[in-house]
Amino acid sequence: MHYTGTVYRNPYEPPSPLLEITQGCSHNKCKFCNMYSAVKYNPSPMEWIEEDLAEIASFYPETNRLQLLSADPFALNFKRLDAICDLVHKYLPNIEIMTMAARVDNITDKTVEELKILKDKGILELNIGAESGDGWTLDFVNKGYKSQDILEQCEKLDKAGIEYWLTFLNG
Ligand code: SF4
Repeated sequence: MHYTGTVYRNPYEPPSPLLEITQGCSHNKCKFCNMYSAVKYNPSPMEWIEEDLAEIASFYPETNRLQLLSADPFALNFKRLDAICDLVHKYLPNIEIMTMAARVDNITDKTVEELKILKDKGILELNIGAESGDGWTLDFVNKGYKSQDILEQCEKLDKAGIEYWLTFLNG
């Protein structure tokens, strides 16, 4: 398997195979976070993804669930995510749900229609580190988007039927 740096899996997810489709974080500038500071952001090569899917299929051919890595794989554009979904279904025909972490601004370049297509291909749930709904706090931690963006982009997910959890920082 191609795993880059430390692997962080969502602790609230049921156990499922982990497929890396990006390396690092597309933002990597939040003041409180050093999880991916040593990793340069890059989309994973499609050849790596295909090799890893073949390996997952050899161990868990019946799996119906997949967790996509790494920090914010939803940063990939629609075309690439769509192609990855097709590849997943080619190797793992029983897949029903794919989950991943996302930044709010990962959603910006995707239309509701494109989000619906991804949902129909199994991207049913995103885990979004919103951190705060307060504009001053978002600027202070250098989150890279405004509170209004959270509302606008999550509304697009609502319209597309993609479920999401928002994680907030305490203290
Ligand atoms: S977007 Fe997430 S992973 Fe990236 S720097 Fe901020 S908190 Fe860390």
